[in-house]
Amino acid sequence: VKKLLGVDVGGTNVRAAVVGEEGKLLAVAKRRLADRGPDAVVAAVVQAVDEVEKSGGRGSACGVGFAGQLDGESGLVRVAPNLGWRDVPLGELLQQRLARPVSVVNDLSAAAWGEHRAGASKGVNDAFTVFVGSGVGSAIIANGSLVHGARGVAGEFGHVKVVPGGRLCGCGEQGCLEAYAGGHNLTALMEEAIAAKRSPGLEALTQGTAPTPVHLEEAAAAGDSAAVEIFDRAVEFLGVSLGNQITVLNPGVVVLGGGVLAHAPGLRERVKARALEICSRTSRAAVTIRDAALGDDSGLIGAALLSMPA
Ligand SMILES: [Zn+2]
Repeated sequence: VKKLLGVDVGGTNVRAAVVGEEGKLLAVAKRRLADRGPDAVVAAVVQAVDEVEKSGGRGSACGVGFAGQLDGESGLVRVAPNLGWRDVPLGELLQQRLARPVSVVNDLSAAAWGEHRAGASKGVNDAFTVFVGSGVGSAIIANGSLVHGARGVAGEFGHVKVVPGGRLCGCGEQGCLEAYAGGHNLTALMEEAIAAKRSPGLEALTQGTAPTPVHLEEAAAAGDSAAVEIFDRAVEFLGVSLGNQITVLNPGVVVLGGGVLAHAPGLRERVKARALEICSRTSRAAVTIRDAALGDDSGLIGAALLSMPA
């Protein structure tokens, strides 16, 4: 069986895996990033790869899932806000150290490809995968291929505008979906409500700790009016935006993943129901909305499979 390497570079850890060509995870290793500079990240990846190959065997090619803006398929990282990088030739640096072909892909594309090849949208040629974690992102698979777009940034679902001129988003623009429904922003919205003494429910639940989507769901269910407002707005914006995407793309499967949707099942079910109300009748008849099946491993598996020479 042919083996491949998958690598996931996050803001705090790197993980490496040996993956079988059918998408089975054979071994995984993790390294904590003490330093986020390119040299330290490359060294951590090389260490994790050395460790994982001892038990899993050698991978013939390496795919890296990376959160940041990439320059096409060149392996050049243009901007990576969570690592503070600009113009780092990550693919080239890793290729020198690992002595095999290395491809660098967007982390969401990698995760969507993992779900497509080995998870919730396996065998489905047209799939839309949405992740709501600290941010909001998506990837589109059409006719069995990932859609990249003219500048490689197709699927920026978190930055569709839901309130033109509205709340400032981390991307520098205003009124994006992510500004009302991403995990970081949900926490910020809850903190603002607590600071303004508008949410006794959240204040009692969190007791000075950072509010999470679990707190939001609990406080909203108990009728705290500020929590209900934040929760209902996130549901509405996510549900309507997702429903509209279903109408546009006509997917056979929508895959929902990410920490916010995983930990707030009430939110997730309301978003599903709203999206199905909003989408066109003909697209609704074709679509099934499923939960992501591979958890944190989808990106490792997808990055590895995307590195397979055509
Ligand atoms: Zn934005």
